[in-house]
Amino acid sequence: MPEMPEVEIIRRHLDSKLAGKKIKSLEILLPRQLKWPQSPEDFSRLCCGLAIEGMERKGKYLLMRLEGEIRILFHLRMTGSLVYVEAGQEYENAHLRAVFYLEDGSRLCFADIRTFGVIYGLKPGELEMVKGLKEMGPEPLSPAFTAEYLERIACKSGTPIKNLLLDQRKIGGIGNIYADEALFLAHIHPKRQAGSLTAEECQNLWQAVNQVIEAGIKDGGTTFRDYRNGEGRKGSHQEHLYVYHRQGEPCRQCGTLIEYTKVAGRGTHYCPLCQRLEP
Ligand SMILES: [Zn+2]
Repeated sequence: MPEMPEVEIIRRHLDSKLAGKKIKSLEILLPRQLKWPQSPEDFSRLCCGLAIEGMERKGKYLLMRLEGEIRILFHLRMTGSLVYVEAGQEYENAHLRAVFYLEDGSRLCFADIRTFGVIYGLKPGELEMVKGLKEMGPEPLSPAFTAEYLERIACKSGTPIKNLLLDQRKIGGIGNIYADEALFLAHIHPKRQAGSLTAEECQNLWQAVNQVIEAGIKDGGTTFRDYRNGEGRKGSHQEHLYVYHRQGEPCRQCGTLIEYTKVAGRGTHYCPLCQRLEP
């Protein structure tokens, strides 16, 4: 699943291609991925003829801002992709679900193998309808995400720290890969009770979260299986991972073999020597 860095890479690319172009027509191939308005006709009426002002991102949500403060919101979930295709260029995808045709002949293609992705068309004031967006906590690298904030939510939490990092209502945008990586860099075991973290550990973890997200963006994202950025390319951050998907391989810091377990129902990777279960 694309996480904040991967979605940010897609946003940057699409913003550079789409800003200033006008939506001519819309083809919906799988109407059930439209969450609001649910009818393809109403959806088309909302956005056709409008100019695209830019692409925005909140956590893992992508928002295409149109004139009149209309927003087309996408959440790619497990296997969704958004690819910009130039005029006259071929694009083959067996899992195409929606196509936005632009006036200059180019198009924006939404494809999704497992069909968990969602699309909303929202008028001003309707962003509130998207629960995950309304309830989202501060994002890494944002001014609201401070070490003090992380310490405050950790203190009050009765869950393992990894569960807290994945809770989008507490911190927006972190997924499984970057949670494992940040915990490794901060030398904290994923099963540690969040409430047991010291102020210093919270400070280290805050720094590690920002560091892994920033590195992920710099590397063009992490690519496993289906994820591609907006150009249909792969990122390279998977070549720099410390623990994620490295079970059985030696820790880059101490040589101990990386272990695999489940936390919060998610596959979790950690170094049993570097990452402490106790303060
Ligand atoms: Zn280690």
